[in-house]
Amino acid sequence: MLDISSTHFDQRLANMQAELKTLLKTHLGDNASHPLISRLTEHDTNVENLVADLSEEMDLTVYQRELTQLNDIAAARERIREGTFGVCVDCQAPIGVQRLEAYPTAKRCLSCQVIQEQRLSARNIG
Ligand SMILES: [Zn+2]
Repeated sequence: MLDISSTHFDQRLANMQAELKTLLKTHLGDNASHPLISRLTEHDTNVENLVADLSEEMDLTVYQRELTQLNDIAAARERIREGTFGVCVDCQAPIGVQRLEAYPTAKRCLSCQVIQEQRLSARNIG
């Protein structure tokens, strides 16, 4: 068992989630009454499918960052429920409380994150 309080992080993630949802609702204005938006903002759900449905009806590119964050938060809370929160998905090492305090949605330890980013930028250049 890791030396982290998953309740503490679940609470932080829940707060982040609530803030983002309020932000999205504000941004969306009249569109916030859209049934799909209600589903997105009222339930603790994986937003990927919802976003796919919504993209057919409205341009979501300006909200991409918020939607990605919401998805990351939902995934992190899922990991808390599964008991895999705070464990690096690549090397299974503990991620470290300091890093998690800074990025509660982190799913990789710092060294694996650096490798991942190098891979991504290499792909962009290539
Ligand atoms: Zn790692």
